Amino acid sequence: MSNIRLEAIKETFNRKPLEVAEQGKRSDLFQVNVFNEMSMRQFMTKEAFTSVMDAIVHGKKIDRKIADQVASGMKAWASSKGATHYTHWFQPLTGTTAEKHDAFFETQSDGQAIEKFGGGQLVQQEPDASSFPSGGIRNTFEARGYTAWDPTSPAFIYGTTLCIPTVFVSYTGEALDYKAPLLRALQAVDQAATSVAKYFDKNVTKVNATLGWEQEYFLIDKALAYSRPDIVLSGRTLLGHSPAKGQQLDDHYFGSIPSRVMSYMRELEMECLKLGIPVKTRHNEVAPNQFELAPIFEEANLAVDHNTLLMDVMDKTADKHNLKVLFHEKPFAGINGSGKHNNWSLSTNTGVNLLAPGSTPMKNLQFLTFFINTIKAVNEHEELLRASIASATNDHRLGANEAPPAIISVFIGAQLTKVLDELEDVSKGKLSPQEKTDLKLNVVGKIPDVLLDNTDRNRTSPFAFTGNKFEFRAVGSKANCANPMTVLNTIVAKQLMEFKKEVDALVAKKSLKKDEAIFNVLREYIKASKKIRFEGDGYSLVWEKEAGKRGLSNNRKTPEALKAMVSKKTIELFEEMSVMNKIECEARHEIELEEYTLKVQIESRVLGDIARNHVIPIAIRYQNTLIDNVRGLKDIFSKEYKKLASEQMDLIEHISYHIAEINSSVSAMIEERKKANKLEKSQIKADAYCEKVLPFFDTIRYHCDKLELMVDDDLWPLTKYREMLFTK
Ligand code: ADP
Ligand code: MG
Repeated sequence: MSNIRLEAIKETFNRKPLEVAEQGKRSDLFQVNVFNEMSMRQFMTKEAFTSVMDAIVHGKKIDRKIADQVASGMKAWASSKGATHYTHWFQPLTGTTAEKHDAFFETQSDGQAIEKFGGGQLVQQEPDASSFPSGGIRNTFEARGYTAWDPTSPAFIYGTTLCIPTVFVSYTGEALDYKAPLLRALQAVDQAATSVAKYFDKNVTKVNATLGWEQEYFLIDKALAYSRPDIVLSGRTLLGHSPAKGQQLDDHYFGSIPSRVMSYMRELEMECLKLGIPVKTRHNEVAPNQFELAPIFEEANLAVDHNTLLMDVMDKTADKHNLKVLFHEKPFAGINGSGKHNNWSLSTNTGVNLLAPGSTPMKNLQFLTFFINTIKAVNEHEELLRASIASATNDHRLGANEAPPAIISVFIGAQLTKVLDELEDVSKGKLSPQEKTDLKLNVVGKIPDVLLDNTDRNRTSPFAFTGNKFEFRAVGSKANCANPMTVLNTIVAKQLMEFKKEVDALVAKKSLKKDEAIFNVLREYIKASKKIRFEGDGYSLVWEKEAGKRGLSNNRKTPEALKAMVSKKTIELFEEMSVMNKIECEARHEIELEEYTLKVQIESRVLGDIARNHVIPIAIRYQNTLIDNVRGLKDIFSKEYKKLASEQMDLIEHISYHIAEINSSVSAMIEERKKANKLEKSQIKADAYCEKVLPFFDTIRYHCDKLELMVDDDLWPLTKYREMLFTK
């Protein structure tokens, strides 16, 4: 009888790092497969080029006739690079990317080839996508969805296919994907931030949100990954005893990268650069076989596209190297999980990072304005921000003692805390000349120096200021960044609009000078958003209690956390900022609840199957060996056998006990699943899966893991933690 685990292990012994040839200087590889400015100039008419640039920079519409010219240039470029097909590339709410490839050419009945790629094909497509989740939107309106070109994210060639980034919307205009609401949120924050930035510099005409994600992931040998049905079907291990050595020695972090992984990373980086993903850093992470990859930050929409594309490139490249990437937030119990830190800031068309202090007091006041408004925005909408990162998989990471808790708070460091404390004392109304000078010289003016030696790092904070950007750390490694970015930019847009209104009102009514008005409003904001600021240990129980007293939300589980997506406050916010309407909010909520239920349901089935069909039979087989042994001893020694076989008999009893526990728990879990499946309402069903089905996982796992420790290693069918984590 073959044991898939042992065969997989044997296979890994023969692995060698794949030879990866350098394909030239890294800088020469950058964007070779992207229809960037340079290729556009080369392959497009001047008129078409100007029109696309106008669309990118000013959001102008592209004329249909011009679209024909753009399409023909794009096709010429793509063909020159060997592309034979094109696809509208989009991000449906399934969490991956979707594409349907069409050839550039088609033959007619007379045998002539006709051109299939014109402006029409570039601008709009119907992806026949009735199987993508829409939360009922499509049924309600009996409308089909279509994809529409997003000129702000450049087309690229992936394999032999020209990929055109698109949004996916219904014919009635509702967003069916991640990108459409993100683009609307980015527009909202552009408008609001530009109007506020104009207080400080009249030349600002556009503000871009910037995003630099840091992608954490695990890499394990492909054969080992495929030997585990739980990894194949749910992306994580549902059972498995912790290895004798875990990460307690901290010897993996920043250690030398294993050679197979190194050649994987080298190939991956070259592929990324060709696609225009500006990857920059790579290193080991805390857990064994855990790594991280980070790019240079970009405009947020592009960065989101690049992250989703990256995840696909990572998958494909890993396969070539006989590796499997685990994007799951918690693939191994008891070992650090993976996140995707979202570094975020706002940047003007004049090249200024609005969250970086400047060289003059006025520039620093600008920094403080955006800094304090962001804190205030998080303070007002912490629960929605928490909802934006909620998923069945991230639930295993948040609050798991090594990741940010489910409570959102903002960390700013001791130095900036001091600055805000001083600003809180600014007098109401007009400021005396003395106070103004003092503020400018001693408080605002000192910020750059103060920040220069700001070495404060608080890894336990879910939302931390890190010198010139905020870092949203609670985002899951598997997540599409669009969701948290849509929420963050929307709440900041809303907050900046309020701010502008309040400052303008003070200037008009109380005839305060502009800077006096700004100080006055900021002072009140600092006071109003104290509850969200926390500098201590975010993992501690003390904080959980304190946060409760402060009235911060602590929604540990997804079905609970998602409620904030459809609260009155959220719907009003999204409608006011023209990001989503009520139908879209409700549809998304519905989709996420269903996704939660499905994920737990799948895991529950897989776990039941592994426990009953893999673990129990092997335990029985081993138990039978023990029974034979005891019988043999009895035959030989008659009376004395009890003493001689006492250990074996003990084991036989324990094995029976664990088998019985597993069996009854699996049965009870199936019963709960049946009950849950009969529930109609998505919320109630998801709640049932969360509260009634999920709790069995730990019990079943506990007993399976005990058996793993008892059963003969040669028989055990599931690849063990030590084998998956320490095979290099
Ligand atoms: P760290 O702060 O983690 O020590 P870095 O300062 O290099 O390291 O930044 C980490 C990530 O933050 C990188 O992905 C980087 O691109 C991103 N980042 C840096 N500045 C900005 C910014 N202004 N806006 C968005 N992301 C940024
Ligand atoms: Mg970081």
